[in-house]
Amino acid sequence: MRKKIIAGNWKMNMTPTEAVNLVNTLKPLVNNEEVDVVFCVPAIDIIPAMEAAKGTNIHIGAENMYFEESGAYTGEISPKMLEDAGVKYVVIGHSERREYFAETDETVNKKVLKALEHGITPIICCGESLTQREQGITIDWIRQQIKIAFLNVTADQAKTTVIAYEPIWAIGTGKTATTEQAEEVCAAIRACIGEIYDEATAEAIRIQYGGSVNAGNAAELFAQPDIDGGLVGGASLKPDFGKIVCYNQ
Ligand code: PEP
Repeated sequence: MRKKIIAGNWKMNMTPTEAVNLVNTLKPLVNNEEVDVVFCVPAIDIIPAMEAAKGTNIHIGAENMYFEESGAYTGEISPKMLEDAGVKYVVIGHSERREYFAETDETVNKKVLKALEHGITPIICCGESLTQREQGITIDWIRQQIKIAFLNVTADQAKTTVIAYEPIWAIGTGKTATTEQAEEVCAAIRACIGEIYDEATAEAIRIQYGGSVNAGNAAELFAQPDIDGGLVGGASLKPDFGKIVCYNQ
């Protein structure tokens, strides 16, 4: 049985002071032993959020990192820095990073390899645009993203990673994929992992759905056989995140 993993993606929201307040508000609401709970926060919030989350079940993750150890990369944050801070999860290749910061499948692959080298679990994002869905190329597109993201990743490493399937048209739009659409793609991702590696790796890897997840749709989405939790944007900044994490209670 795969343990569910529900992660909040705060995006570019919350000052350090607000971050501490939000962790304190959510702390008592996200207590679910059956779920790994992660708050992926802006880099400047990582340390204060960790302090605020001490002694709870909340893991603090990062929203991005660079693929070099250190050096002349002004403004970037390195895997070494995240590791030293005790960060265990990092979102890689979110569609907003691909759209606004020129991330590609190749940079995603480099970041995935680096995160794994540093013992940090990458939450690897993939997803199609509305045009791609309408053209009927969703599965082909996602398979390509997955195959490149996992280049040179070993089966043992792949088993520890998390994939977030996030249709771009569903992110921040209030439009959720139907349960059938989400399950179809998550199952196709698992099959693709099975082809790259083997059945055991496909069974072990955790696949999240992301895209306008809320307290009303979480339980049905997370009940699907290939959906192992969610990556949640907007709703992760509200007390409603507690209802999403406790979807089974
Ligand atoms: C996200 O930021 O990854 C996301 C899925 O956002 P939202 O839940 O707001 O659609």
